[in-house]
Amino acid sequence: MKSEENIKLLQALVSARGPSGEEDEVRTLCHKQLKSLVDDTWIDPAGNVIGKISGSEKNLEAIRVMVHMDELSLIVKRINEDGSLRVNPLGGIFPFTFGQGPVDILGDNELSSGVLSFGCMHTSKESPTINKMVPEENRGQGKTPVWADVTVVTRKTPSELKDAGVHPGTRVVIAQSRRQLHLFEDCVAGYFLDNRAAIFIALTALKKMHSSKRKPKRDIYFVATCSEEIGAHGASYAARTLPGEITLAVDVGPVAKEYQTVLSPSPIVVYQDSVALYDKEISDRLMFLGKTLGLEPQCAIWEGYGSDASLAYSRGQTAKAALLCFPVENTHGYEITHQKSLEQCATLLEAYLLE
Ligand SMILES: [Zn+2]
Repeated sequence: MKSEENIKLLQALVSARGPSGEEDEVRTLCHKQLKSLVDDTWIDPAGNVIGKISGSEKNLEAIRVMVHMDELSLIVKRINEDGSLRVNPLGGIFPFTFGQGPVDILGDNELSSGVLSFGCMHTSKESPTINKMVPEENRGQGKTPVWADVTVVTRKTPSELKDAGVHPGTRVVIAQSRRQLHLFEDCVAGYFLDNRAAIFIALTALKKMHSSKRKPKRDIYFVATCSEEIGAHGASYAARTLPGEITLAVDVGPVAKEYQTVLSPSPIVVYQDSVALYDKEISDRLMFLGKTLGLEPQCAIWEGYGSDASLAYSRGQTAKAALLCFPVENTHGYEITHQKSLEQCATLLEAYLLE
């Protein structure tokens, strides 16, 4: 992770805008990165980017490795008379996760700027938003804002917004100015490590295989998926349409005492989430390989969590599901991971794929 080239790639992945269902910038980047690393690459009708590595042996189950391209974002519900936007979340985020700050509005004809706003603190109960939720006598101890309390200030009139192609359904994302990665001590932090860091992990594993000229025995389908944050629709389609019975997702692993997970370089092998049980044999194998490689893997079960793999499995679109995570503090917020964890996850993923 320390090398300049690695940081540049992760930064490029985080800077690319990819709200659910409109992942174009991330898709273009993934497609470009994949081309030199796999035998064949294409984009399926659902918008997933697929890279295929042909295995050296026939009649073995293919593996689908899935990492999602989409990021947590907002969708316009309506345009208010004053030209501000009422937005709803696409995925599991609260207003406080994004906080007040600049956003990009992806109009059909024009990219506009706005600011996610909660209103003024220096007001009384007569003003909605902040004061409605945090009574004067209780500042700092009230309820947090909900999306109905939040607006995106655009400083455009409704007709200017119409010309820009902004309408109900338009996506609003964290502005590029807020996407700079923050490296400190042994960690890297930023928005959307979920799941750009997993794309980075998968690409790193493919690069390792490519440069060592080692071929897997089984066919590997690398799938950068769409719309995971709102229900893993891209992954379910890919699992149904691609060959193979195993779907292995790579995604964020929440660091929390309740899971006994820590913010360290060690990958996390997941045995269950709130949607499904992961395949025990594959999880055990990943743990064994991690130990053998000296990666000191962690294991966990997640609550309040679903992945591309478990959701595809729950819909009967894959016979087996597995999940490999990199440890993350502040999941679905301003996320922090250990700089070495991405490299270590890639090492474990590569070892598993080469078995
Ligand atoms: Zn994710």
